[in-house]
Amino acid sequence: MGKVIVLAFLRPVEAADPSDVFDIGVIGAGPAGSGAVWRLKNRGLRILWIDKDDFPRDKVCGDAIPYETYGVLDQLEPGAADELRQWGGAERILRSRVYLPSGRGIEIRWKTLAVNSARFQFDHWLVEKALQSAGGVHLAFGQKVTDIGRNNAGFEVRTSGGTFRCRKLIGAGGAHCPLARKANQEESAQSGVRKPERRHKLAAVRTYAEGVTGVSDINEVHALKAYLPGYFWIFPLPDGRVNLGLGILATELGRKKLDLKTELECIVRESPLAGRFSGVPLGSIQGFELPLGSSGSRRGGPGFLLAGDAASLIDPLDGHGIGSALHSGLLSADAVAQTLQGGDESTLWGAYQARLDSVYYRNHRLHRRLVNLAGSPGLLEILGRASLLRALGMDAVSV
Ligand SMILES: Cc1cc2nc3c(=O)[nH]c(=O)nc-3n(C[C@H](O)[C@H](O)[C@H](O)COP(=O)(O)OP(=O)(O)OC[C@H]3O[C@@H](n4cnc5c(N)ncnc54)[C@H](O)[C@@H]3O)c2cc1C
Repeated sequence: MGKVIVLAFLRPVEAADPSDVFDIGVIGAGPAGSGAVWRLKNRGLRILWIDKDDFPRDKVCGDAIPYETYGVLDQLEPGAADELRQWGGAERILRSRVYLPSGRGIEIRWKTLAVNSARFQFDHWLVEKALQSAGGVHLAFGQKVTDIGRNNAGFEVRTSGGTFRCRKLIGAGGAHCPLARKANQEESAQSGVRKPERRHKLAAVRTYAEGVTGVSDINEVHALKAYLPGYFWIFPLPDGRVNLGLGILATELGRKKLDLKTELECIVRESPLAGRFSGVPLGSIQGFELPLGSSGSRRGGPGFLLAGDAASLIDPLDGHGIGSALHSGLLSADAVAQTLQGGDESTLWGAYQARLDSVYYRNHRLHRRLVNLAGSPGLLEILGRASLLRALGMDAVSV
């Protein structure tokens, strides 16, 4: 068995006894895993927290921490949202500007003060918050989960560092979560059906740059005609850095045969926006996929729940998944803890699924349809009228 660190004592301890069984294993230490562990600590449970990376670690993202994150943070610990807003690793953002294919701009003032924060720092902040004064949490960071099997006690989780036994699992391993993958493989083997996934995925690339002109406390979204339905973004970060990226529906990417890395470079070097990037070197451009919440994918199975990207909870309209990941981490933690206290698993799992469906799935299905409409520049110009957005309750003006 791999080395287990008991954080409550802040020092490594001997490998746990092979007959040891953890109450809950949480796979993944992104926002979903952090939300789960933060919620589970100090409840008298033995929690094993696994991630393939040591922290801090990078995560390909736009780094915009969406509005719903702040309410969940305060649920996890009163005052945590303001702590994040005032933290030096975060850039405060009050508005977004959407530029339509015609070049016309609309500015939307947000109802809540939000921040952008590079995931290298933000995810580490979350992990530290989850572990602050934590009792009962055992870390296995830097250990990749390679396989998951079942035994009498629950699960055997094989990692690059050893094998751990857990009564229940929370799969929070992101878009490539090993538990979600295993569950999907088993389901496909039984039903013989492979899920049509691509229409419920976005493909995106992002990089970092410094010295871009015209940047303020505004998140910029440029709906460029060549990449509809999709957009190029410029999101400001602390210390004059920006996160730049380009995202598009995965099906459109295949149809248009685009290489997103090359396209991002073209936008920055050759499009009408190029003047703002003159002499600005780009960092390495990295890509990753976004599993959309419109797929209605599975959220659990016997003995386990999935949270965050592992449960496909990204909003198709804006690509946001950090808030829903943190939230589903919290909700899954409550459900799993209750089963360990004797609650009926199928009732609790059903309630978890129903909650995610009512908070996310219904909206995400509607948003996925809007994304289809946004594929047409003409319709996008109509949908993007400030007067229409104001009628829908947004504080929007033309710029
Ligand atoms: C280009 C891009 C831009 C985006 N922009 C935004 C944005 O601006 N705002 C927003 O809200 N969302 C954005 N998203 C979505 C957001 O990144 C995700 O929704 C969010 O990270 C989901 O959190 P998570 O905890 O579920 O998964 P993750 O953050 O992916 O965390 C999963 C963790 O599991 C670990 N893991 C994976 N496999 C294993 C394994 N085999 N063994 C052990 N550990 C494993 C990983 O190391 C990782 O730490 C963007 C995504 C992309 C790709």
